[in-house]
Amino acid sequence: MKIAVIGTGYVGLVTGTCFAEVGNDVICIDNDQEKLRKLNNNQVTIYEPGLEVVYARNFRNGRLSFTDDLASAVLKSEIIFLCLPTPQDEDGSADLTHVMKVTDRIGDILRENKEYKVIINKSTAPVGTCEKIKAILTEKQVPNFDVASNPEFLREGFAVEDFMKPDRVVVGSDSEKALAVLRELYEPFVSDVNPLIEMDYKSSEVTKYASNGFLATKITFMNDLARFCEKSGANIDLIRMGMGADNRIGKRFLLAGIGYGGSCFPKDVNALIKTADDMDSPLSILAEVDKINKSQRKHFFNKIKDHFGGDLSGKTFAVWGLAFKPDTDDMREAPSVTVIEMLLEAGASVRAYDPVASENARFYLQERITYFNDKYEALPDVDALVIFTEWGEFKKPDFANMKSKMAQHTIFDGRNLYELKEMEAEGFNYYSIGR
Ligand code: NAD
Repeated sequence: MKIAVIGTGYVGLVTGTCFAEVGNDVICIDNDQEKLRKLNNNQVTIYEPGLEVVYARNFRNGRLSFTDDLASAVLKSEIIFLCLPTPQDEDGSADLTHVMKVTDRIGDILRENKEYKVIINKSTAPVGTCEKIKAILTEKQVPNFDVASNPEFLREGFAVEDFMKPDRVVVGSDSEKALAVLRELYEPFVSDVNPLIEMDYKSSEVTKYASNGFLATKITFMNDLARFCEKSGANIDLIRMGMGADNRIGKRFLLAGIGYGGSCFPKDVNALIKTADDMDSPLSILAEVDKINKSQRKHFFNKIKDHFGGDLSGKTFAVWGLAFKPDTDDMREAPSVTVIEMLLEAGASVRAYDPVASENARFYLQERITYFNDKYEALPDVDALVIFTEWGEFKKPDFANMKSKMAQHTIFDGRNLYELKEMEAEGFNYYSIGR
């Protein structure tokens, strides 16, 4: 099938690459010239395990190409995906500027076109967006098209795996013809146990927000409970095991930490709150989730501050992990940035190491902190180590080596990486979450 993917970021690049991998002809479009230059020169623009190999194979055999020529790509393709940013606007809503601007241009390009096209929105966008897209294209008198919603559920760090073997694919449309195209397109990816689920536009759009809202709530419930554990003397890790063994609850998304971040959960929770408020049907549980999540970062900072008697001026901290989660270089809404800002504000200095995210972190933290290429190089003479990301390489470090470098043997672990008994035996002052 001939596919155009508009927006070649985390979602667009993975989508385009994986569709090419199963034999489709895919043209990825972007307006970022630097991104296109890299992608046309055998350079993958994001860190995503497994992506480089699949990209290289399909780029070489010509099934995957990259361009800024929207008109030519749209005219050549039957299927047109929108994978555009929908960032948070000032009032919390999803900013649809990119989606609407591109739809407008597609309308102009397809005005005279007779061949059938399906325009599929994969960007996370509020209920009613597909109807707006359809209205724009109808007003532009595009003769032969349908619109569909196909929200993306991939997880950064597992994006290729999630795309190739999704738990489910959700598609929404008012057109049986469009749904038939999507059925054929996704046939290589779905099965009886990992189904394609068909619905109307609106339900499809809400399914995406409902999923992210629910997962954010699950994480936040555990973080809130972790604070209660700190007061009551219970251990959140043991409680998690006790709860997770119940099939109705499930084991996943129960890890306490410094709160969720990333490019999706924070903005999607806020967008759903805003849409629900606008419709006079408030989802008040999510408003509380957002509030608790934000305060979890402050709670973690306060632990650090309290340990040093309220005065952090002149203190030096090593930081392990900057990315909002492991196996990604994505720094959007990373809790590390908020807490590091608090440390700097309090007069401390920071020596940071992340396996892949330092370059992106510079956008947020510039040269206000020092970056290192090795986790042990960040440690000399520090007053404490702060862990923000549960990268695999932090899980079994050489504690003796760490102690020989650090001025004080104190660790603030935002991800509960180590056993309490082990830390006691190693002689660290060890602070974690909810234990
Ligand atoms: P991104 O910022 O990584 O990528 C968006 C791309 O669109 C960028 O490369 C940008 O240059 C390009 N772009 C912007 N305006 C353009 C235009 N007019 N023409 C051509 N290209 C243009 O964003 P992302 O993380 O891929 O997210 C895209 C959408 O998918 C968002 O709605 C997001 O909420 C949703 N989503 C993201 C994830 C994720 O894990 N990142 C998961 C599921 C859904």
